[in-house]
Amino acid sequence: MKASDKVDHQRINARLDEMAKIGATAGGGVNRQALSTEDAAAQSLLIAWGAEIGLEPSIDEIGNLFLTLAGTDPGLDPVMTGSHMDSQPTGGRYDGIYGVMASLEALHAIVDAGMKPARGIELVSWVNEEGSRFAPSLMGSGVHAGTRSLADALALRDADGVSVAEAIEALEPVLGHVPRRPLGRQAACYVEAHIEQGPVLERNGETIGIVTGIQGKHTYRVTVTGEAAHAGTAPHGERKDALMAAARIVLALGREFEDPEDITRYTVGRFNVSPNAPSVVPREVVFSIDLRHPDGARLLRMSDSVQEICAGQAGPCTVRAVRLYEAAPIVFDDGIQDLIEKAASGLSVPHRRMLSAAGHDAGLMQHACPSGMLFIPSKDGITHNEAEYSHPSDITEGARVLADVLARLAG
Ligand SMILES: [Zn+2]
Repeated sequence: MKASDKVDHQRINARLDEMAKIGATAGGGVNRQALSTEDAAAQSLLIAWGAEIGLEPSIDEIGNLFLTLAGTDPGLDPVMTGSHMDSQPTGGRYDGIYGVMASLEALHAIVDAGMKPARGIELVSWVNEEGSRFAPSLMGSGVHAGTRSLADALALRDADGVSVAEAIEALEPVLGHVPRRPLGRQAACYVEAHIEQGPVLERNGETIGIVTGIQGKHTYRVTVTGEAAHAGTAPHGERKDALMAAARIVLALGREFEDPEDITRYTVGRFNVSPNAPSVVPREVVFSIDLRHPDGARLLRMSDSVQEICAGQAGPCTVRAVRLYEAAPIVFDDGIQDLIEKAASGLSVPHRRMLSAAGHDAGLMQHACPSGMLFIPSKDGITHNEAEYSHPSDITEGARVLADVLARLAG
């Protein structure tokens, strides 16, 4: 008997529907902000479902919720699995919560199959993945993995001035009975299921994406400084036109980052002209660069060329490019990728290896232990949107693959 045999199509889809009622929006999506009463209601429901199969709940200092299935050998580090339950303000019914429900269903299947794994399996719901109430995103997994400090995270404030620490305290009446656990307890490995949030699987008629990694990202703020002048009287040879220089720079970077394989992502999403008056030669342009690539060395090489290309195209203007943010690409564990592939093949589920274009908790967990992810298709790639949709049969297939992977990892 395989764990996947016990995955219940009706149960997982009904539970996803039930979760979608918590924070449901008129447009058919959900609004379940991190550490809100809706978030706490979703956590309480998850704890209740977990209790049906003997999962022990615990919460760490930053508010990550864990449900533990004990292993037969308490000396072994547990296998961890999960995702997040918070959403964007007009979020969909699947982002994050799918992974939590798939993990719960996988655990249910393992228990129902009568398996007694050597390692414990811990289902985790990471707090504040979305970063919409408390920016930035990926808070709970970052604190757990040690890439972000607990004190800094607790001090983050929402738009109303409420801190993370205060929000956690406000949920005491609902979640105060749940035992506390130390922060950052070591796991043997981590596997997360998630909706793709892109169109690749659907377009190719495939059900499972074996995620190889998450692309790296660098951002810049570029300031081009010229001189304001009269649009009628200033001779072209004497102008310091900041917009002309900025336009040359944007296009030159576009040529430099042109990629026949369409892997490089180069975006100028913000472009501010001063004084932005029809009859004044522009004095200053400030624009953003968002540059992404999965190959760390290549990303760095491209990023390092930004300064020189800017200078080369500035003409009579001056230009300053400041790197604001840099995140190296994540490469997920080979062994976990292979296990997901084996499980999908074993169930005759069409699959492909693919990159994640978006960031995920699993990317931070890869800093703490061998980690991996599997994707299921998102209809039309629509996400962070109330119209987000994944097909019920794909929901189930993802949980089946996850169940077999977890059973294998837990031994
Ligand atoms: Zn998500």
